[in-house]
Amino acid sequence: MTLASRLAEVDERIADAARAAGRDANGITRIVVTKFHPAALVRELYALGVREVGENRAQELVAKRAELAGLDGLRWNFIGQLQSKKARAVSGAADAIHSVDRIKLVDSLGSVGEDELDVLVQVNLTDDAGRGGVEPAGLEALAERIESEGSLRLRGVMAVAPLGEPAAPAFERLAGYAERVRAISPDANWISAGMSHDFADAIIHGATHLRIGSAITGPRPMQV
Ligand SMILES: *Cc1c(COP(=O)(O)O)cnc(C)c1O
Repeated sequence: MTLASRLAEVDERIADAARAAGRDANGITRIVVTKFHPAALVRELYALGVREVGENRAQELVAKRAELAGLDGLRWNFIGQLQSKKARAVSGAADAIHSVDRIKLVDSLGSVGEDELDVLVQVNLTDDAGRGGVEPAGLEALAERIESEGSLRLRGVMAVAPLGEPAAPAFERLAGYAERVRAISPDANWISAGMSHDFADAIIHGATHLRIGSAITGPRPMQV
């Protein structure tokens, strides 16, 4: 299968899932996760019409964005765990950061002062505090802190489904967390959820931004 046919097939499945959920597929943004793949693959995706890509490592994001600076209108989403000391580099290279999960990181992003950066609060859907994401109890405090930072635009919530349990109930919980964030910031209506193996469930539970990697790109090269 070619890249073009995998992309078309995923888009068809997104349209089917949206229809089944009674939703308009135009309200769903498909982000292609290109981590570990070379810049050349991003270029191919761009030629196929892709305008949203996702990366999860700071250095890789910065390098690829620089290499592909000529691709007009391509938006870069940062979806990985972000160390505070990398805040400046990532906010300079990303159009949106999906993985803001602690107040200290908001302090760092705010002090960089990059204008109009879209940010999402990553919520931990597991009982394991070592996984990325704020604990649900800390959701409001984090959202309010982002709201108080003029250079950041709070867009909504992001999460990864837990391993070893069905994704659907976890995404249902996420929809409730999204509502709590909207109570603080009514325009923060993005829900970033759904990967290659669970995006249909995410669509049922209101995902607006899907982060799909391997189903489109094929298997990732070995992580180095
Ligand atoms: C890698 C990654 C994805 C994409 O995963 P696939 O299973 O390849 O679709 C989505 N979200 C995050 C946070 C990731 O790190």
